[in-house]
Amino acid sequence: MFREVTKNKNREKTIWHIPLTKFKDDKSNSLGNILNKKDINEYKVDNKPLEQQDTKQFTIKDIYDIIVKTNELTHKETNTSIQKEIFKKNVRIVEMEPSSFCNRKCSFCANSFIDRTSQNIEMPEDIFIKLLEELKDINYSNTFSLNRYNEPLANREFILKRIKMVKDYIPNAKIGLFTNGDYLNKTYVRDLESAGLSYMHISFYLKDNEKFDKENIIHKRMCEVFNKINIRKYYQDISTDTEYILKAKHKKMLIIYRALNFEEAAFDKGGTIKEFRTLERSEPCFQLFNQFYIDYNGNVMICAHVRSDVLEHTPYSIGNIKDNSIFEIFTGEKASEFRRVLALRGNEKMPPCKTCQVYKYSLFEDLYTVFSKKFL
Ligand code: SF4
Repeated sequence: MFREVTKNKNREKTIWHIPLTKFKDDKSNSLGNILNKKDINEYKVDNKPLEQQDTKQFTIKDIYDIIVKTNELTHKETNTSIQKEIFKKNVRIVEMEPSSFCNRKCSFCANSFIDRTSQNIEMPEDIFIKLLEELKDINYSNTFSLNRYNEPLANREFILKRIKMVKDYIPNAKIGLFTNGDYLNKTYVRDLESAGLSYMHISFYLKDNEKFDKENIIHKRMCEVFNKINIRKYYQDISTDTEYILKAKHKKMLIIYRALNFEEAAFDKGGTIKEFRTLERSEPCFQLFNQFYIDYNGNVMICAHVRSDVLEHTPYSIGNIKDNSIFEIFTGEKASEFRRVLALRGNEKMPPCKTCQVYKYSLFEDLYTVFSKKFL
């Protein structure tokens, strides 16, 4: 199948879009030779077929896989079954906003100037079901997250119903959400777990003028919240100058309580938070290669930090799930074009990405990010 997908595409263009700065001259020819072979297993390194290479290190096979993947993801695909295959093979996170309301107006979030408090607009149930049916069609089993810029736990009955629906349609998916924790109590945690939530990420926020004091402020207050929701056992997962994480379990549900030091880790959220606009982005971004972000109005955005209710972000929508299937959108011309730009180092053309520092603080590592750390 890879061969089929690959042969119809422009090999030279593909290689150009792979961020192989260190390999540009000496390796790109051999990469081209690999693509020209009828069977990848004809290619041997140290007389060993590729499938016997050490997979802990990046081998020529890994690079080949990156080429094939990049080829698929940077060219529009029109065949429906190949579109589904590409989505299933690549997407590890579907993040969607079931409704618009958030109860906070944090200074580091665009909700500080976009009104998300005065009304609550829910994604229509038929559109939500359309999304779930499409995911069911490919037996989607990676992460499904019920949050973007909303506070998902603000409406208890609504979110429990939505979690149960996700569980019914795609029972093998890891269902999660990010919350500010304001609405949590003991019975709510129990109900979330019973509905099928696999993980809950609670974000810790310092009050105005408080410092990132792990011992006297953060740990103490996290323990108070754990106490309130009847979590007795937890462990410290990360403790650095930038990040502090406690983890706990409630039956099958993982609880991650995370504090980020915004003096170190804040960035401008796609250019919207002016006071954080400082550093130029210097690394490629691969969010659009394996993640899929849907706003409450159905718009699919290029990444977690770009949103359709911010005027200057509206050009960065790659489609709307009301109008097209998620597979058409993921493999469409707009998504492919953005990926070609994002895989390159730095980016003069796209304002939301110019000063983005998200690659430094991402919770998720993938083949591309590991690869780029090693080879760029
Ligand atoms: S560089 Fe930042 S703003 Fe641009 S697509 Fe990636 S995560 Fe989004």
